[in-house]
Amino acid sequence: MPKAIRGSCLCGEIRFEIDGDIGPAGQCHCSRCRKVSGTDGNAVFHAPAAGFRWLAGEEMIQRFTVPDAGGWSSHFCRQCGSPMPLGDNRGKFLFVPAGLLDDDPGFRGYAAHIFVGSKAPWVCIADSAPQYEAGFDSPRLDPA
Ligand SMILES: [Zn+2]
Ligand SMILES: [Zn+2]
Repeated sequence: MPKAIRGSCLCGEIRFEIDGDIGPAGQCHCSRCRKVSGTDGNAVFHAPAAGFRWLAGEEMIQRFTVPDAGGWSSHFCRQCGSPMPLGDNRGKFLFVPAGLLDDDPGFRGYAAHIFVGSKAPWVCIADSAPQYEAGFDSPRLDPA
């Protein structure tokens, strides 16, 4: 059985591990992910809920729900501010910010870019991963 992959926040109070099939990562370019990360978006991957375990600090997670955004929320460490994994509505998987990983997940690069239609004007996507106007169910854009 492959070794579990570990992740943590900047201060180290919150730690988790994941086993099972994870990734690959997608890059979300939406304006909310940019605010959450403070950079050009958020590199996230899916992890199966059954393979995800909090090791420490789950009680340190603070939640902020964006008003009038259909329940869109950010979970983060109340001490250091690192964005935290967030479950989907049905409890089947978690969206995990890839920057939290302390171990090599095995995947390389991005599988897709989403919400490219609202990306920051200064961002130039330099790889050949497929680009989507919004989510995966939105029109696919031809890379320029
Ligand atoms: Zn922290
Ligand atoms: Zn986003």
